[in-house]
Amino acid sequence: MILQVAIDAPLRRLFDYLPPPRASAEADTPILPGMRVRVPFGNKLRVGIVIALAEESSVAPARLKAVREVLDRQPVFDLVTFMLLRWAADYYHHPIGEVFAAALPAGLSDGRPIEEQRTTWELTAAGQSEVQSPSGRRAPRQRALLARLATSTARTTEALAGEFTPAQLRAAEGRGWIQTVPVQNAENTLPRDAPAMRPSEVVLTDAQRHALAAILTPGSRFAAHLLHGVTGSGKTEVYLRAIAAAIADGGQALVLVPEISLTPQLVARFRQRFEVPPAVLHSAMSGSERRDAWRRARSGEARVVIGTRSAVFASLTRLAMIIVDEEHDPSYKQQEGFRYSARDLAVLRAQRAGVPIILGSATPSLESLDNVLQGRYARLSLPERPGVARASKMTLVDMRRQPVEGGFSQAAIGAMSAHLGAGGQVIVFLNRRGYAPALYCSACRWVASCTHCDARMTLHRRAAQLRCHHCGAQRAATQVCEACGKTLHPVGQGTERIEETLERLFPGYARARLDRDTAGARGAADAVLERVHSGDARILVGTQMLTKGHHFPDVSLVVILNADQGLFATDYRAAERLAQTIVQVAGRAGRAARAGEVLIQTEFPDHPLLELLTGEGYDAFATSALAERRAARWPPYSRLALLRADAKDPARLDAFLRGAAALGSGEPHQPARGVPARILGPASAQIARRADRYRAHLLIEADDRPALQRFLGAWLPRVEGLAVPPGLRWSVDVDPLEVD
Ligand code: ADP
Ligand code: ZN
Ligand code: ZN
Repeated sequence: MILQVAIDAPLRRLFDYLPPPRASAEADTPILPGMRVRVPFGNKLRVGIVIALAEESSVAPARLKAVREVLDRQPVFDLVTFMLLRWAADYYHHPIGEVFAAALPAGLSDGRPIEEQRTTWELTAAGQSEVQSPSGRRAPRQRALLARLATSTARTTEALAGEFTPAQLRAAEGRGWIQTVPVQNAENTLPRDAPAMRPSEVVLTDAQRHALAAILTPGSRFAAHLLHGVTGSGKTEVYLRAIAAAIADGGQALVLVPEISLTPQLVARFRQRFEVPPAVLHSAMSGSERRDAWRRARSGEARVVIGTRSAVFASLTRLAMIIVDEEHDPSYKQQEGFRYSARDLAVLRAQRAGVPIILGSATPSLESLDNVLQGRYARLSLPERPGVARASKMTLVDMRRQPVEGGFSQAAIGAMSAHLGAGGQVIVFLNRRGYAPALYCSACRWVASCTHCDARMTLHRRAAQLRCHHCGAQRAATQVCEACGKTLHPVGQGTERIEETLERLFPGYARARLDRDTAGARGAADAVLERVHSGDARILVGTQMLTKGHHFPDVSLVVILNADQGLFATDYRAAERLAQTIVQVAGRAGRAARAGEVLIQTEFPDHPLLELLTGEGYDAFATSALAERRAARWPPYSRLALLRADAKDPARLDAFLRGAAALGSGEPHQPARGVPARILGPASAQIARRADRYRAHLLIEADDRPALQRFLGAWLPRVEGLAVPPGLRWSVDVDPLEVD
């Protein structure tokens, strides 16, 4: 028997090994696909995953090495996840070892035991009596530790680590006050039929009830539902109830959310409603926290698993339902390394597992809307906000017809005064952080540029720095032109400058700013949001970070400072993104009793996209945008892949891409229907040089997914055979989010 093993290395192949020598202890456990093994690889030992068993190998038997150790007694992945990962490696043409490594938390992919016995700290009898009648010789930290253990349920070493040092724990143990106790697996302690959800006061609207009934149709196994509801229309309430029903008889639910919206508030809402705390999987968590959550998901102890992108690969043995919230969000696509779409894989996973999936959004992606038109997804609408909340009124402000002050039109300034005066809060949206996007010399036209990129530096005035938003380079901001010595002028608006303008225009109202600069440290964003919730800040300025799920009852006006960036962009998805951003930001207004108003500043008030969106709404926009895509044969009416490459030497980069393109011409893959898969390029990236590397790509365009897969399957192995010039990197992106 031969074991075909995936190893975390950038190689699109499996490696053959012999089973471990019979003498070893594991010899009597059958080796199954999905188990981890330790194998000799090069001159090191590596952890790999058994992908398949074979009768024979193309490697000569004498040259085959044996597996050193079998690390598991059962497969690490549930069967559907294992199949999903194999499928994803094929579909995204990514090295399979890296694909499997991406599915395991750090530590487990390095060979730690899957079933780690967790322990908690508990008070001993002596500790109990010490709490009740202190003997008086305790240090304050010891007293705090005992009090904590007496009251809190989070008592693992990891949970206590934030407050107490290991030395403090050992000291209390040494005095006989505390001891470690193995954690009982909650799976065994909680009855499976315990009520999964706590009752709620909310009475569903007719639309919510209808949606829920459709999702929970008895007898239906796999079904994809596009839950289309404006922000605040009660989608989350539908998720919560659908989950409760799906997991009532012991099942589990997987909830995917975008990077930015996995906030403590969201987790709290789930925690409040379900008896067993959800397992949370997030890239910002520490290794041990992630492993712990991953284990709780896999064992079935966690009934609800909430996570970002990579949680789509979490093993859930009793998966009963999948939810993808804000399904249009770009963060579902991994943009480096293994470039998968968690949204697309979630649908496939639901299909393979035979469970329903809900894709929710106020602004569904055009792909998903097309899937509705094709009959693959069922659309469920929540057209209204429950209770008194009203949809906001959107108005375009023509920037050519009125004086503008620091980026604000007179109309916007007037509206802000009125709303602030009436006690409302105001959101100002601008998708650009920093003070000004350019520092310019009007005498000689010199502009501060990044020395490592073909890009301008952004002025950050408070930090007195010029920063490149593409490579992260920074240097001290100068006052004078480096070419002629005259005074430099900041040109354009960033959030920092807008904040300054607001201070001048509305001195009496406190402001808050939310962008990557103010939300840098962990918890900083929550602090900013808290100032808005408490009403302390009356005006909130921010970037894209504002668009996600926050609920601000008193915001009555949203001003979108500049809608024009997306109107004439070259990327075919730019219009969709712009429309989604406008609708999402607009959704921050009028979420409760106050009527909302949205002002969109533009130099192009006659642009058909803006007219459709503000006049008739997102649906009308989407219908028209889909028709444009069909006419231009962009996805979903064709399928794309990109082969990206970058190198320090532009000539070598170009030669490599030309060589790769030549390997793809005249292939026998030409589909019978007469529309061949084509290679376009090489073309330079929009920012042709970034961090001192030149960047270019080939675009592969095909009629449909099978044609694209046939083409890539024939072509990429040949590209792999090309000699790669030193320092050149290349990668494949199937279904790229951006054609750049
Ligand atoms: P979404 O997920 O679409 O943004 P939510 O489910 O978060 O919407 O609902 C927005 C607000 O409305 C929440 O405060 C929620 O508790 C409340 N809500 C949801 N459904 C109802 C309902 N049927 N009746 C009253 N309030 C509701
Ligand atoms: Zn100059
Ligand atoms: Zn740069």
